[in-house]
Amino acid sequence: MKHISEEQLIDYYYGEAESPAAIGEHLEACRNCAQAYSSLTNDLEEIKPVAVPARDAAYGEEVWRSIRESVPAYKSPKSKSFRGWFGSNWGFAAVATACLLLVTTFFAGR
Ligand SMILES: [Zn+2]
Repeated sequence: MKHISEEQLIDYYYGEAESPAAIGEHLEACRNCAQAYSSLTNDLEEIKPVAVPARDAAYGEEVWRSIRESVPAYKSPKSKSFRGWFGSNWGFAAVATACLLLVTTFFAGR
């Protein structure tokens, strides 16, 4: 006889078992699993669900006020202008490659 795993017992407790009828029959027939289920039930009943407190419409503003000073100000990334492209090494490399291709094409055409 294959016993029921703890995961299956937990699913059975919460009503999410795949085959609750088979588990129920097994629990009636098997003393070990029945004891395990009884112990598990006692443990799970001690866990009380925590009630989520209600939030009002100004909750977001309250959170923002409480963390405002600890969050660094957002700086938008610099846009890539013509000057920005030439200022970066990648921009210079792109322009150099384009010039090299142009010169190569010119001499290949002659
Ligand atoms: Zn069993």
